[in-house]
Order: sequence, then structure tokens, then C-alpha cells
Amino acid sequence: MRIGVLALQGAISEHLASLQRAGADEAVPVKRKDDLQGLDGLILPGGESTTIGKLMNQYDLLDPIREMAQAGVPMFGTCAGLILLANRIDGQDWVHLGVMDIFANRNSFGRQRESFETDITISGLEGKAFRAVFIRAPHIIETGKDVEVLAVVNERIVAARQGHLLATAFHPELTGDIRLHQYFLDLVKNAQ
Ligand code: GLN
Repeated sequence: MRIGVLALQGAISEHLASLQRAGADEAVPVKRKDDLQGLDGLILPGGESTTIGKLMNQYDLLDPIREMAQAGVPMFGTCAGLILLANRIDGQDWVHLGVMDIFANRNSFGRQRESFETDITISGLEGKAFRAVFIRAPHIIETGKDVEVLAVVNERIVAARQGHLLATAFHPELTGDIRLHQYFLDLVKNAQ
């Protein structure tokens, strides 16, 4: 299994490390179109979605990644990555990849709580609660009919899955808990 992490901006090395610990054969940074060759899955990390989106456009990565997602290659968007996947973004009349049927709201958790951590229950993960780190996090206002809601915090959807597409509003790569990366690798295995 060869998994890429989009490496234009944001939390990259932590995702690569989590993937390795979760048992990916190869975890590689993706900076150019050629890096997409032979990937079995791709992580879209947190950062700033506007910046990452612009860079994806500039490096001609937007169309190829969209096509991969449409062809069934599993993708996992965390925080800004969730926004990149969304096919609707609140207050914005453009989207980035637009492949996942979710309505995303940016910077949802208020200024005074720009960053917070909380223990959450994620459907499909066994064992203890998951420590979720929210950094200027988005949330999902609405999901389409094929989307399964995996976690809710303060009545806001913060994790969801649509077949081979997984999205979290928080940063699972920052806590050392690799269960979501394992969950994603299972999606990749199932897609093969
Ligand atoms: N607020 C950022 C955005 O709208 C996301 C923050 C993050 O990825 N930690 O893109």
C-alpha cells in the first residue's frame, strides 16, 4: 500500500509518521503531479484551505486529484482537507475538489476557542474515546444521503464518511492515536 500526503502546506510530517505507524507500506509526500502515480490512497492535511486550494491549482493537482477521487481512490481530508473535499462551502460560491457530498462551514468553533481538545466517540472505532484536536476547525452543516456521520461535537458533525472518502474537522495526526489512520488504511484495503 502506497499512501500519499498532499505536501503543499500544513501538517504533513505528522500524517506521514502516523501512516507508517498504522502499517502503510509506503507513506510519501505529494508535491507534483508525478507523485500521484501509483498511489492507493491520499491524505489531504490541515492548514489553510484557501492557500492549499490555490497551490493545488497552481501545480495542476486539482483536476488529477479530483479524477482520482471520482475513480474511487480513497481520500482522507483532515480539517482544511475536509473543506477541500466538500461540494458545498458556506458563504463561498466556489469549491476546491468538490467530490464529497457535505456542506462545510469554515472556522466554526469561534475565536476564543480557536484551538481546543476534547474526547469524542467515533462510530466504527473500538476502545477508548478519541482525543480530538480542533484548530480553527470547520464543521459539517449538512450531509448528503450517501454520507455516514461518524462523530458529533456540540451538535456539530465533525467526522463523516462517504464510501471511500473520509473527513474529520479535527487533527487526528497530532495525538499519537493512530486508529483513524488505521481506519483509513482499511478503506484503502477494501477499495483494492
Ligand atoms: N480554518 C482553516 C480553513 O478554513 C482550517 C484550519 C485547519 O486546517 N487547522 O481552511
